[in-house]
Amino acid sequence: MPVPNSGDDTGAPILPGATIGILGGGQLGRMTALAAANLGYRCHIFCQNIDEPAAQIASQTTLARFDDADALDSFAARIDVATLEFENVPIATLERIAARVPVHPAPSVQAVAQNRLREKTFANELGIATTPFRAVGDAAALAAVMTEIGTPAVLKTVRFGYDGKGQVGINAASDPVAAWADSGAGPDTDGGILEGFVDFDCEISVIVARAASGQTAAFVPVENRHRNHILDETIVPASIPDATAETARNVAIKLCDGLGVVGLLAVEMFVTAAGDVLVNEIAPRPHNSGHWSIDAGRTSQYEQLVRAICGLPLGDPTRRCDAVMKNLIGDDVETWRDEIEDPRARLHLYGKAETRPGRKMGHITRLGAPFTG
Ligand code: AMP
Repeated sequence: MPVPNSGDDTGAPILPGATIGILGGGQLGRMTALAAANLGYRCHIFCQNIDEPAAQIASQTTLARFDDADALDSFAARIDVATLEFENVPIATLERIAARVPVHPAPSVQAVAQNRLREKTFANELGIATTPFRAVGDAAALAAVMTEIGTPAVLKTVRFGYDGKGQVGINAASDPVAAWADSGAGPDTDGGILEGFVDFDCEISVIVARAASGQTAAFVPVENRHRNHILDETIVPASIPDATAETARNVAIKLCDGLGVVGLLAVEMFVTAAGDVLVNEIAPRPHNSGHWSIDAGRTSQYEQLVRAICGLPLGDPTRRCDAVMKNLIGDDVETWRDEIEDPRARLHLYGKAETRPGRKMGHITRLGAPFTG
C-alpha cells in the first residue's frame, strides 16, 4: 500500500525564533525542546497531563486531550511547525493541525507506523525483509494462522502495543482462545498479528534523519538489550560485521525515503546468526536508542529532528566516541548520586516526580573510546 510522498511543500526554512509545536509531553519531547532551545527556537508542548517532562522546560504548554478540537486549533494558531514525540497521537489530531501548519513526519507516515500490519506490509513492498506475519481477526482465526505461520510465534495487537504490552508467546500447545484473550487484541486494536518467532543474535536499530530536500543522514547501527521487554541498554556501535551494518543502514534509509519522512525514522531490526536483517518495527520520532547521540554524537537525534522539520541542513551524524546508554527504570534512578561522580558518565534525569516500576526516570550515557573513523 503505497504512501504518498509527504516530501515538503513548505518552501522557505522555518528560522530560529519560530515556535515548534510538540505533541506529547514525555522525555523525548523534553530532549527535543532542549535541542530546539540550543538553536534559538521556542517550543509549545501539547500534552494531556500536568507537569510532564517536556512541559516543565517549554515556553508554552497546552494541557488538553488530543480530541479537543478548540485546543488543537488554538495550539496550531500559535506554532510554525508541529512534530510529535508520542507514537499514538490520533491521525485525526495530526490532520487537524496539518490543515493549518506543516506536521512532520506527515500524518500519512504515522498511519503506517501505528499499525503493525501496515508497517510490515510497507517494508515487504519495498523488498525489505520482515519476519513472516499474518493478520488475525479473532480467536477462531488464530488456530488456522498458527498452522500457517508455524510455532514458536508471537501474537501482538495490531495497534497500541509497546514495551511488550499486547504480546503473547505462542507454541504448538497454546490454546488460541486463551492466547487471544491474553493479548488484549480486539476491535479496539484493529485485531491481531501473528509473527514467526525470530531466534535472533541481536536486536539493533538505525535512526535516520531526512530533510524535505531528500537529504538523509543515518546514525550508526546500535545494539539494544532489553530487560522485562523494556529497553535497558544501547551499545554504540552494535558489534556486527561491516556488511550487516551497511545492510541495516540501507534498509533504514530505504524505508525513510519510501515513506517520505521529513524528520526522524527509527527502525528496529533483528540480526540472525546467518546475518539476515529483519525489520521488526518503525517509529517516526526520536527513539530511546538514540539518546546516546546527545553526549557521544556530533549532532544529536533531537537536533537532527529540529533541523529537518525546520528546513535547515542536517548535521553530521557520526559519533565522537563509542558509548553505552543505560536507562534508569523505576528504582534504578536512585543510583544517580554515584553516576554523577563518574566523569565518563553523562546523567540525564527527566523530572518525573513519582518513581514507578517500569517507568523511565532518566538515563546515563557512558562515554567510551574516541571514534576516529
Ligand atoms: P516490539 O513491541 O515489536 O518491539 O517487541 C518487543 C520485543 O519483543 C522485541 O524487542 C523483541 O525482543 C521481542 N520480539 C518481538 N517480536 C518478536 C519476534 N517476532 N521474534 C522474536 N522476538 C520478538
